[in-house]
Amino acid sequence: MLSTNQDAYFMPFTANRQFRKTPRMLVGADGMYYTDDAGNQVLDGCAGLWCVNAGHRPRRVVEALHKVVDTVDFVPNFQIGYPLAFEAASRVAALAPGDLNHVFFCNSGSEAGDTALKIALAYHRLRGEGSRTRLIGRERSYHGVGFGGMSVGGIGSNRKIYGPLLPGVDHLPHTHDLSRNAFSRGQPEFGAEYADALERIVALHDPSTIAAVIVEPMSGSTGVLVPPVGYLQRLREICTKYGILLIFDEVITGFGRLGGSCFAAESLGVIPDIITCAKGLTNGTVPMGAAILRDHVFEAFMQGPENGIDIPHGYTYSGHPLAVAACLATLDTYREENLFERAAEIAPYFEEAVHSLNGLPHVVDIRNIGLVAGVELEPRAVAPGTRAYDVFHRAFHEGLLLRYTGDIIALSPPLIITKSQIDETFEKLGKLIREVA
Ligand code: PMP
Repeated sequence: MLSTNQDAYFMPFTANRQFRKTPRMLVGADGMYYTDDAGNQVLDGCAGLWCVNAGHRPRRVVEALHKVVDTVDFVPNFQIGYPLAFEAASRVAALAPGDLNHVFFCNSGSEAGDTALKIALAYHRLRGEGSRTRLIGRERSYHGVGFGGMSVGGIGSNRKIYGPLLPGVDHLPHTHDLSRNAFSRGQPEFGAEYADALERIVALHDPSTIAAVIVEPMSGSTGVLVPPVGYLQRLREICTKYGILLIFDEVITGFGRLGGSCFAAESLGVIPDIITCAKGLTNGTVPMGAAILRDHVFEAFMQGPENGIDIPHGYTYSGHPLAVAACLATLDTYREENLFERAAEIAPYFEEAVHSLNGLPHVVDIRNIGLVAGVELEPRAVAPGTRAYDVFHRAFHEGLLLRYTGDIIALSPPLIITKSQIDETFEKLGKLIREVA
C-alpha cells in the first residue's frame, strides 16, 4: 500500500499521477520471483530492469555484502586504493575480449556512457588530434540520461524538453525495418547497409573532426533491435579506417544476456575500443557501472608526467567497497553456476516460446536474441495509452513482471529461468495479448 504522503517521491520514467491511482509495489525478491505488497509471487520476466542476471539475492552476493559492511564502509579512492577494487577491475577485464584490459568504475550506465564519451574526447586531444570533437550516436539508441548519453541517444521523447544538448552530435539511422526484418529469429539477414550511413556522416564533416561512434550492439530499451548480420562489422571497419573510436554500450547486453560470452562484442565478433557496462556488473544489487578500455586508449592517458593526475574525471563512489564486493561475488556466481553457457543452452527454447505468439491479434513483430525478446504490438488508432502498457499492467497483477516501451513488450528474464517458467511466461503473455485485443 502507498503511504499517506504520495506526493513526495517523484518517480523516474513513470506516469506519476497514473501510478498513484493504480500502484504496483514490490517488497521482496528471491531467485526468479518478486513478492508484491499483498504477498503475491511475481515471476520476473525482466531481470528487474535488465540487471538481475543471476536471479534475485544470490547467496554469494548477499554474504559478500554482509561481510563488507561489517569491515569497511567507504574508502576515498582518489589517490587511495581499496584492494577489492583492483581485483574487481582485473576480473572484469579478464571477461572482456581482446585487449579491453583497463577498467574505470562509476555508479551507473549513464555515468559509464558519459565516462566513455569524455575518455574518447580526451584520447584524441592527448594524441594531438584535438579537432576530433564530434560524437555520433544512433536513432533509437539509449545511453542513459547524463548530458552526453542523452545527446548521443536517439530517443526523441528523452531529449526534446531539455533544449539544445551537446553540440556536434550526429545520429546514424536505426535498423528497425519491419518491411524486411519482421519476425526474424536471432540476427536479421538484411540491413547491414545501414552502417554505411557512417561513411556519409564522415564525408559531411571530415574524419579529422570525429571522435567516436557509440551504439548499443543490440538496442534493448527501444524495443530489442538486434543488429543485422554484418552491421557491427561494417561500423568497425569504417571507424578503423578513419581513426574513430568505436564504443559499445553493453549496459544491457553485458554479462551473458546474449548467451555464451560475457559481452556481445565477443558473441557478435566485433571488438570496440571501449565497452560500457553496468546492471549485471553487480547483478543489480549495488549501483555500479564501468568503462572498459583497450590498451591503446588507456596508454594515451599514461604519457604525461608520472606525478600528474592522468584523467580529471571520477566519482566519489567510483570503486565503492560495497559495489566492488557485490561485483566480485556476482562474477563468482556467474562462473560457478555457468550462467552464460546456461543462457545459450536455454535460448532456443526461449526463442520457440516467444515466436509461439506469432499470429495473435495485433502482434506485428517478434524479435529475439539470447535471452532477450521484444513483442511489438500494433499502435492503437484511438489511444488512451498503448496496448503494451495494458499488457504490462495486467501481467503485474497476474504475477508476471514485464517491461513495455511504446507499443513493444520486452522480456529479459534472469539467466536461471527454467523451461516451465518460460512456458508460464508465454502462456500468460499470450492470454493477456488476446485479452487487450
Ligand atoms: N545504456 C543502456 C543501453 C541502458 O539500457 C541503460 C539503462 N537501461 C543505460 C545506458 C543507463 O543506465 P542507468 O540507468 O544505470 O544510468
